[in-house]
Amino acid sequence: MAHSSASYDVIVIGLGAMGAATLYQLAQRKVRVRGFDQFTPPHALGSSHGETRITRLAIGEGDCYSPFAIRSHEIWRDLERMTNERLLHITGGLVIGNSDHSGRFHGKPSFLETTIRAAKRWGIQHEILDAQETRRRFSQFLLSDSEGAYFEPEAGYVAPEACVRAQVEAARRYGAEIALNDKVIEIQPRSSGGVTVRADSGIYNADQVVLAIGSWISRFLPTYARHFSITRQVLYWFSCPQASHRFGRGKSPVFLWALGDEEAEGLYGFPAIDGDGGGVKIAPSKYDREVDPDSVDRSVGLEEIEKVYNRYVRGRIQFVEPRCVKTATCLYTTTPDSDFVIDRLPETPQLVVVSPCSGHGFKHSAAIGESVAELVTTGSSSRDLRPFSLSRFSL
Ligand SMILES: Cc1cc2nc3c(=O)[nH]c(=O)nc-3n(C[C@H](O)[C@H](O)[C@H](O)COP(=O)(O)OP(=O)(O)OC[C@H]3O[C@@H](n4cnc5c(N)ncnc54)[C@H](O)[C@@H]3O)c2cc1C
Repeated sequence: MAHSSASYDVIVIGLGAMGAATLYQLAQRKVRVRGFDQFTPPHALGSSHGETRITRLAIGEGDCYSPFAIRSHEIWRDLERMTNERLLHITGGLVIGNSDHSGRFHGKPSFLETTIRAAKRWGIQHEILDAQETRRRFSQFLLSDSEGAYFEPEAGYVAPEACVRAQVEAARRYGAEIALNDKVIEIQPRSSGGVTVRADSGIYNADQVVLAIGSWISRFLPTYARHFSITRQVLYWFSCPQASHRFGRGKSPVFLWALGDEEAEGLYGFPAIDGDGGGVKIAPSKYDREVDPDSVDRSVGLEEIEKVYNRYVRGRIQFVEPRCVKTATCLYTTTPDSDFVIDRLPETPQLVVVSPCSGHGFKHSAAIGESVAELVTTGSSSRDLRPFSLSRFSL
């Protein structure tokens, strides 16, 4: 083991969606920063893989979120110019639900109603469609007559692996030190201020630490662990013989369907981005399998595929077949109110927690990184972080 006691302004632990964004923003501000990850991001063992993440600007999880999604789109466009890599794809997005707008999604009741309220509050272009009009324009979706949809032309998807890679690389170019395959084992706040971090590679000191370790959060915050639930989520690429024609880019929007089902409250999916043989990515948001991030079963059996197809896809989404061309297993880290945690640890304010993103964090991650960088360097963020405070949980 190499030993070191280098000192930094900030250490960022975890370089997934949140950590990579934070590292990039800090490095851009010329902060002396070191980022650690136990693996080599982008990787497929946390919450930021699977080729695509839905982004929408009117946010049904709460209208306080829209400024983060709007700003993230700007940051990704800047990163695209910097890296020559495409990160953000605008396809339009549909949010489907009961026409009384009461359906739940991501733990939030009245998801469609909140989406529409957010669109009005933030001036986001949208249309409200009844079932007949939705079926006419998007024949792949078989809405029942008691359902309707919200359509947002500026919604789409981001490429999570590319976003993580772009921000880690940009951070490196701005001078950040990056330690990959280097697991942080201990975080020791010092009574005199600052924090000592012990990693596989040695001992490091920093004035502040940003903890962005996703589903591993309870390892370092045992007193809050009971508020965080880690669930296994499976992504399915269902076979579709004419995927490019039926679900191709420019033809099919991203979609999210609030089902109000006990087992999976909703279903979401994407255009077919890999041609006819690549399948159509569709997934239910399920909370029934709590897991440990280090021992989660990532295999997906035929029985599980068949069950999801029959229960959620059949009769709702046309043209896709029960067979999968591939699957992926991913992790949600969810709080009781399904909101995020972005806050200083009350008992140790030199430690900033940027985690549990409750299954809907990616679209906001670039701006969250910016807000955390502001918090760490100036003491406050230009966007309101109060909804994400740790004080809402009782210890
Ligand atoms: C299946 C699925 C679908 C989703 N769909 C959407 C969507 O469509 N739209 C959307 O906006 N959001 C979506 N999300 C949510 C979004 O992807 C997550 O909120 C986001 O990726 C979480 O990022 P993170 O940085 O918190 O976690 P991660 O990306 O998992 O990063 C945590 C990192 O910390 C590292 N780490 C952990 N412990 C240590 C340690 N001790 N030392 C060093 N490193 C450590 C890990 O290796 C990992 O790289 C989805 C999530 C899943 C799982």
